[in-house]
Amino acid sequence: MKLSRQEFLKTLGIGAAVLGITPLSPLSSYGDVNSSNGETSKIEAVKKGGGRLQIKDIEIYYFDIPLAQPFKIAIGTVTAATDVLIRVITNEGLIGLGEASPFLPITGETQETNITAARHIRDMLIGKDPLSIESHLREMKPFMHTNPSIVAAFDMAFHDLLGKVAGLPLFRLFGGERTNLESDITVDLDEPQIMARRAKEFVDRGFRTIKVKVGQSPQLDEARLRAIRESIGEAPAIRIDANQGWTVPQAIEALRRIEKYRIEFCEQPVAAGDIDGMRLVREASPIPIMADESLFLPADAIRLIKVGACDYFNIKVMKAAGLANSIRIAHIAEAANIKCMLGCMVESRLALTAAAHVMAAKDNIVFADLDGFTSHTLDPIIGGMKLEGGKIILPEEPGLGCDVDPAFLKKLRRI
Ligand SMILES: [Mg+2]
Repeated sequence: MKLSRQEFLKTLGIGAAVLGITPLSPLSSYGDVNSSNGETSKIEAVKKGGGRLQIKDIEIYYFDIPLAQPFKIAIGTVTAATDVLIRVITNEGLIGLGEASPFLPITGETQETNITAARHIRDMLIGKDPLSIESHLREMKPFMHTNPSIVAAFDMAFHDLLGKVAGLPLFRLFGGERTNLESDITVDLDEPQIMARRAKEFVDRGFRTIKVKVGQSPQLDEARLRAIRESIGEAPAIRIDANQGWTVPQAIEALRRIEKYRIEFCEQPVAAGDIDGMRLVREASPIPIMADESLFLPADAIRLIKVGACDYFNIKVMKAAGLANSIRIAHIAEAANIKCMLGCMVESRLALTAAAHVMAAKDNIVFADLDGFTSHTLDPIIGGMKLEGGKIILPEEPGLGCDVDPAFLKKLRRI
């Protein structure tokens, strides 16, 4: 469903009404601004005060969305998005939204550890200016290694508020522009023929790039790629993700076996901690290598570059603990002439919208894997990024440009 700007703003009003909070309307000259309802004066007041806002409350919710079917990768299986929703509410009634999507096998967090960390962070930040993002990142730093996803949710909410006060969609605030953004879609692990059938369905739906999960025996993985290439033909691009499933010799064997199926790149062939092993794979591989689980925070990017472990980076807002760090990683990559992908866990369109804004912000983020919500049984997000075929459509409203459906929000368990 495509909402007009007016319809979208109306939904913000309904959402705010649930909490008895005055709805936000945009200030800037970006887009067709409606300044007739008097709400712009509140944002004017914020701007006159040097952008000073205060965090009045932080709401924390269990944000569960079931998946249509279990999603299987080499290191684990997901059956639901067990996420955490954050709503940062200011003294002026502005609301910033953030989502954490913890995925235990990759980030070592759970919904419960995220919620415990969120309580601590809430206590630290109440009463402070939400737009002092650097200061908040410094305070949240201890949580970046243990609960990066919840730090990402707070960082996201603060950036949402920043964009709303500035009256700009985040990708514009970051200095980017709407370009031709395109996402792949992922085929998870299964029998080769089942994976081939799924890949064909995705191509028929308009996706031009298929991401294929591998990382088991090289023979079985080769059979998967053969079946998929036969089923989708020569035109669609194929990229693969081993999710740390191979040893170094297995990775080299597998990559040499499947080269003939024209593979764009391979994500995370070996264990996350084995970046020397990843360099060995890279040196022997006919297919470019992308670091994913080996790359969380900006310091990891520097380490990977020093070792020469990979050709590409997969940046994820959850691993990087937010938008600010994601952009920092892209900057480090740019200086080392490394192209990046913007990836995801199984988050809703809320966190995916944040990721899409980051992607549009940086020229060297050229690949996207922002399909996390496509496996969900429901979509509780209003506005936000859309995926049409593989094409990513960014919202133009200020901040993230999306909200949680008020009816869905009412049903969530709040901490
Ligand atoms: Mg990956």
